[in-house]
Amino acid sequence: MASKITINNVDITFLGHSGFIIEENNHKIVIDPFLTGNPLATVKPESIKADSLIITHAHSDHIGDSISIAKNNNIPITATFELEKYIASNGAKANLVAIGSKQKLPFGNVVFRPAIHNNKPSDGIDIPLILPSSVLLQLQGLSIYHLGDTAINLDFKLIQEVYKPDVAIVPIGGHYTMDIEEAVFAVAWLGVKYVIPVHYNTFSLIKADPLELKEKMKQANLKAECIILDTAE
Ligand SMILES: [Zn+2]
Repeated sequence: MASKITINNVDITFLGHSGFIIEENNHKIVIDPFLTGNPLATVKPESIKADSLIITHAHSDHIGDSISIAKNNNIPITATFELEKYIASNGAKANLVAIGSKQKLPFGNVVFRPAIHNNKPSDGIDIPLILPSSVLLQLQGLSIYHLGDTAINLDFKLIQEVYKPDVAIVPIGGHYTMDIEEAVFAVAWLGVKYVIPVHYNTFSLIKADPLELKEKMKQANLKAECIILDTAE
């Protein structure tokens, strides 16, 4: 299995769990790089070169190695305003965004949307409130929607109507997020051409078989292509 897919000259590489490197000719974007402590990840944070770094929310399996990657590359962490203190207190720079606002980054645009998720800080992350989000990236004429950790919700219909995403990065592991049955609805509502399942099998609580998503999408007559990526080495 490949760990990378190329769509519209944009390379989308899976780092494991919910982490990605998204790359076009001139830019490299890292999202939710959870590498240290991730039993399935093999890429080392020191090896990551990027000019944008985005995190969907403050849970440790999403913040992951963001602080060290931001410092190594001398780039800010793009996140919601609630994370300002956490990022600053760890000595990194922040590019703070409001939920729903469209921000210009070096590669194109990013829109933070809500995710329906809990807001209890993970161990060692001392912030009063985490506003979980999903993020939509617009680059090279491609629209990529990373759903973050979310329950199924009707914002997916709004996302389809307003932003017409081409690619959806969809959690399927259940327990903390949507499961496969709910993910099928998400794919239908988002109307995407490509689906990349994530947030499964990293821990025993989120065991899921991505082939089951593929099968259930077929049964639901969805035309989207389900792309199951291996973790990058
Ligand atoms: Zn998570």
